[in-house]
Amino acid sequence: MKRISVLFLLVFLMAQAVFAQNPNKPGNIIIVSIDGLRWKEVFQGAEKQLINNRKFNSQDSAQLVKKYWAEDEQERRAKLMPFVWSVIAKNGQLYGNRDLGSKVNVKNPYWFSYPGRNENLTGYADPKVNSNDYPDDPNMNVLEFIDHQKGYKGKVVSFASWDAVARIVNRDRNGLLVNNPFEDIKGNNLTEAQKLANEIQHYEPQIWGDGERLDANTYAIAKSYIMARHPKVIYLDLADTDDDAHEGKYDFYLDAIHSIDAMMASLWGYFQSDPFYKGNTTIIVMPDHGRGEGAQWTSHGSGTPHSNDTWLMVMGPRVKTLGEVKNNGQIYQDQYAKTIAKLLGLNFTSVNPIGEVIESVVK
Ligand SMILES: [Zn+2]
Repeated sequence: MKRISVLFLLVFLMAQAVFAQNPNKPGNIIIVSIDGLRWKEVFQGAEKQLINNRKFNSQDSAQLVKKYWAEDEQERRAKLMPFVWSVIAKNGQLYGNRDLGSKVNVKNPYWFSYPGRNENLTGYADPKVNSNDYPDDPNMNVLEFIDHQKGYKGKVVSFASWDAVARIVNRDRNGLLVNNPFEDIKGNNLTEAQKLANEIQHYEPQIWGDGERLDANTYAIAKSYIMARHPKVIYLDLADTDDDAHEGKYDFYLDAIHSIDAMMASLWGYFQSDPFYKGNTTIIVMPDHGRGEGAQWTSHGSGTPHSNDTWLMVMGPRVKTLGEVKNNGQIYQDQYAKTIAKLLGLNFTSVNPIGEVIESVVK
């Protein structure tokens, strides 16, 4: 009897191992967009001049220094983004540290939000897409492309802190679920966590008007949905960073970065605990644009030098373990869409002239 159960266990474990390595099993991916997060904070942590400038901070400066400052750059950036530097840097890749000759830029000439997200998701730095008020994006995006592939139909979902994302993903054309600010997730079988996430978003102060929701609420709706419904492709579009920076609040900008890092850690931890996601899920993280330097850190756009300087991080079963990449040449964000598809073993093609796969990402 004992021998039979041991044998059964062995067969079960072998079947699991084969399943986990089956290249035909469609993989999962979470795409995290962090609005206007500079490469400087990612790779250098909090900036001394800005953290010490009273004009840009309302919180107690001693407290702020304790939270985010360290003389050593590696220690400092790990204080700001502990998940990124303890997990992604060890198991995945980061591009965009210009001090190490790793250059990432947006290709579009505008250097603001809608054009940047269009470029990320469609692979085409379309010069016609020139406004944050642009109507529905006419270009096919990688999310709807994946939704049409075998094993993915109805399993591609988006959650956004900014209401333009419904137009950028163009849900009216493709019918994808895009949860915009202050929209409830609908359904008869919602979990208690989903019901609560729906509810609490209506109690937040609408600091940025009715078109923007705080990232914490976008995150709650996303995570409760993920746990209940197990989507295979998740586009999580976060925006507190850009709002706080435009307001000139460096302390809140740092807090937003720190919180987004914690949200990613929590999601990644959940993925490792759920057999649906464990070992079969990739995370890719990117901004839509950069920001200026020095006193111009609050701003971005073609009139603000260096706000086209950006970054990329990625980790998953098909991603080479390179850590912080040095001297990799030039990457443009129009390469992200095709790279996202490739990480799922798919070849994203388009009628538009789209960027090529970043070959150093994929095993
Ligand atoms: Zn902005």
